[in-house]
Amino acid sequence: MRQIVIVGGGAAGWMTAAALSRLLKAEQASLTLVESDEIGIIGVGEATIPDMLQFNLFLGIVEADLMRATHATFKLGIEFVDWSGGGSRYFHPFGFHGVDIDALDFHQYWLKCRAEGHPHPIGDYCLTEIVARKGRFAFPDMRIAGAPASYLRYAYHFDAALYAAFLRRYAEARGVRRVEGKVSEVQRHPESGDLTGVKLVSGQAVTGDFFFDCTGFRSLLLDKTLGVPWVDWRHWLPCDAALAVACRHDGPPRPYTRSTAKSAGWQWKIPTQHRTGNGHIWCSEFMSEDEATFVLTRGLDGEIMGSPRLIRFATGHRERFWEKNCVAIGLSSGFLEPLESTSLYLIRQGISRFIALFPDSTLPPVLRDEYNRWMQKDFEQVRDLLVFHYFANGRDEPFWQHCRNMTLPESLRRRVELFAAGGRFLRNEGELFPNASWVAVMLGQNIIPRAIDPLVAGKPAAEIEPKLAALRRAMNEYAEGLPSHAEALRQYCGSEAGA
Ligand SMILES: Cc1cc2nc3c(=O)[nH]c(=O)nc-3n(C[C@H](O)[C@H](O)[C@H](O)COP(=O)(O)OP(=O)(O)OC[C@H]3O[C@@H](n4cnc5c(N)ncnc54)[C@H](O)[C@@H]3O)c2cc1C
Repeated sequence: MRQIVIVGGGAAGWMTAAALSRLLKAEQASLTLVESDEIGIIGVGEATIPDMLQFNLFLGIVEADLMRATHATFKLGIEFVDWSGGGSRYFHPFGFHGVDIDALDFHQYWLKCRAEGHPHPIGDYCLTEIVARKGRFAFPDMRIAGAPASYLRYAYHFDAALYAAFLRRYAEARGVRRVEGKVSEVQRHPESGDLTGVKLVSGQAVTGDFFFDCTGFRSLLLDKTLGVPWVDWRHWLPCDAALAVACRHDGPPRPYTRSTAKSAGWQWKIPTQHRTGNGHIWCSEFMSEDEATFVLTRGLDGEIMGSPRLIRFATGHRERFWEKNCVAIGLSSGFLEPLESTSLYLIRQGISRFIALFPDSTLPPVLRDEYNRWMQKDFEQVRDLLVFHYFANGRDEPFWQHCRNMTLPESLRRRVELFAAGGRFLRNEGELFPNASWVAVMLGQNIIPRAIDPLVAGKPAAEIEPKLAALRRAMNEYAEGLPSHAEALRQYCGSEAGA
């Protein structure tokens, strides 16, 4: 592969360009990115998950620089509000609950004590959650195994447009050539059907021997040119529209995302240093755009900044992510709504899996097949957690009743049944979400196991209780001693007019 062309310069395009420019020397292959200022980027995508730290490490980015440039805050998890009916709330934290005892899951001990009247929610044993609820922050510290700080995890909230701009500077400094212009035609080899180049409205041609389709929802190469079919998941994830708008902060930025269920969807609040990003995702079969706008604006915490922007979408993915000499990364390859902030993660997975299978010019089909198989698994895993949130709701509106009655994907049905029967999990290869995530959302949405692991059930609760009390005390004391999130930001990465 001598000439690699990336079409599209949103987060997907520039993440791909940055990663490849980090790996490839100019004499190995040229990297060209084509993007259109006229079309622009989608510009939403403010919340991330902890794997983003690995991507930074790989690129060799100084975290504080990135955070300052993108007005980032720290994210310790997601608070889910009203998903089980008005007034309900729970936290999906990054990090873990308690510590396993005798190699048996902590949540089993908690279930045992709960069955005997223990009043504390499981979140009281998750340091990341405790720190988040107190509005504080600390970095994980792995130097002492078992020390409280070794249980912390975090990610970022940032400005998506600034993130793409940051990576653009990174990639251009490493030799990526940027071509501005709108692609009007994609050229193919008459016999093999492989892509050979793109032609811009200006008449300029950009040729290549391998292509990344990062053209967002347009999917100009994979869909419009190569005709790879769409796998529709709207029967599981029926929301199909979003309105996004920023507002001013009503106080110091929270170190977590808030997701509040609404009558036909849900609303997000994502604090960056300068503002709160808000969005309302809803199902147009159950709610009009006017009503959705009303729900969004009524739910803002501070003064609105600009007008809400409408984005229509379909949930699902392309049947193949890599077709011929083209890989689609980002929205061009599929979309899962941002309920668990996973889109940038799926972009990173696409890039890492491609790097792991980096082909030579013969493009062995086995690489492509393996890539497609893994990417499909990645999408399915994320899908299952999202579907779970909708399915296990406790609300009365017609939309939510509809979601409760859906037939679950088989992989999710088995997972829910296994947990409901005895609080167990069997992990699949390469799973993204740790058991702690599933414990948090399943208990949070009222899937309480009918039985406890018999290896724990036989232990007297009186023996377990003091251990739980000691854990709670240690975690609370530790969290109390931490700086506030706002202070941590100011010291580490405060940007002008921000934290
Ligand atoms: C409502 C909503 C909320 C989201 N929230 C989150 C979140 O919290 N966390 C998260 O991780 N993700 C989130 N996402 C997903 C996230 O926005 C995207 O995954 C991310 O921004 C990557 O987008 P992209 O680069 O694939 O597409 P885009 O940003 O749309 O970029 C497409 C690029 O292709 C170019 N292009 C298109 N057609 C042409 C053409 N003909 N010629 C030349 N150039 C062309 C455009 O100019 C642009 O540069 C959200 C998405 C939506 C819809």
